[in-house]
Amino acid sequence: MMKAFKFRLDPTTNQISELNQHIGSCRFVYNWALDQKIKTYEQTGKSISRFDLNKLIPVLKLSNEWLGNVNSQSLQGMTKQVESAFTRFFREKNGFPKFKSKKNPIQSFPVPQHYNIDFENCTVKLPKIGEIKAVLHKKFEGELKTATVSRSCTGKYYISILAEDGKEPPEKQSFDETTTLGIDVGIKDFAVLSNEEKIENPKYLKNSLQRLKCLQKRVSKKQKGSNNRTKARLQLSKIHEKISNQRDNFQHQISSKLIRENQAIALETLNVKGMVKNQHLAQSISDAGWSSFVTKLEYKAEWYGKTVLRIGRFEPSSKLCSVCGYYNSNLTLKDREWFCPDCKTKHDRDVNAAINIKKFSLIDQNLIGIHWSSVKEFSCL
Ligand SMILES: [Zn+2]
Repeated sequence: MMKAFKFRLDPTTNQISELNQHIGSCRFVYNWALDQKIKTYEQTGKSISRFDLNKLIPVLKLSNEWLGNVNSQSLQGMTKQVESAFTRFFREKNGFPKFKSKKNPIQSFPVPQHYNIDFENCTVKLPKIGEIKAVLHKKFEGELKTATVSRSCTGKYYISILAEDGKEPPEKQSFDETTTLGIDVGIKDFAVLSNEEKIENPKYLKNSLQRLKCLQKRVSKKQKGSNNRTKARLQLSKIHEKISNQRDNFQHQISSKLIRENQAIALETLNVKGMVKNQHLAQSISDAGWSSFVTKLEYKAEWYGKTVLRIGRFEPSSKLCSVCGYYNSNLTLKDREWFCPDCKTKHDRDVNAAINIKKFSLIDQNLIGIHWSSVKEFSCL
């Protein structure tokens, strides 16, 4: 099984400039490769392959000698990134690949192989750079796969390592109605569960978000190009980083707990992009970082032999009574609670949706039958 580990690096001043050189050169090669792809297509109507791009890198080095100071495998890693950007574009219709900007908050470069970790001396050895001190807080074994070195917006350096431990993932455990948990994305809460539990966003996160808003205002009030604006920007970057760490920790806690306590987790496939366009939901959805939470659930499920079930996003999970199947076409986003006129159940909107998500996913698995009375109404939706 592949596992990912992330460690903080503590480079010397010299190493910082070498790391930055790698970052800059890789960005340069990425943009060059993207440009080659576009131009080749415009001129010939054909696509240039990664293999051909890699063959051109030595030519590129002739006119840009400084590229020679950088690990060639890192440079070649960028043609792979361009290629996967195109694959995603064609497969997910996810926006045409963009050029990388110096201004992106997180800058990184790949180290495909030939690096080492020394747990005893707490160092990571990178090609062309050498041994860098690192905070190796977690020991692991396994075959080292690709690593990525990144620089955060506040100038901290990290290495993320993928390692294959050679073990088969555990066999999937069976699940049924009592051991499956449905989760709905909350609007007010972070998530609402089919067991009626609601998971709130933690208070510290809310406080940080408040502070973020305040700092954003402060930046916009300072004069462009002024020292004060730069200072305010740095503060803003710091709070951004803090929020993303806090959110990450929170999501790790929740996802581990949910995976531990249930055999299967049922989710709705969300069109997060579509939802973010809707101003009303924008704040809550993007704050919740739903997709990174789902990613954590999915890989943890894999590690522990649990299952993540998904239902399509067009299934009417909010409007259907989870008890009798009555379809409430009048339900609006504002209605937090509703009464089913058929079976007289009082519903919490989100809990009802979470229960339906669980039911739909189990119907998909043929684990429960449809026993709702208004099946006809449901099937013509
Ligand atoms: Zn009902």
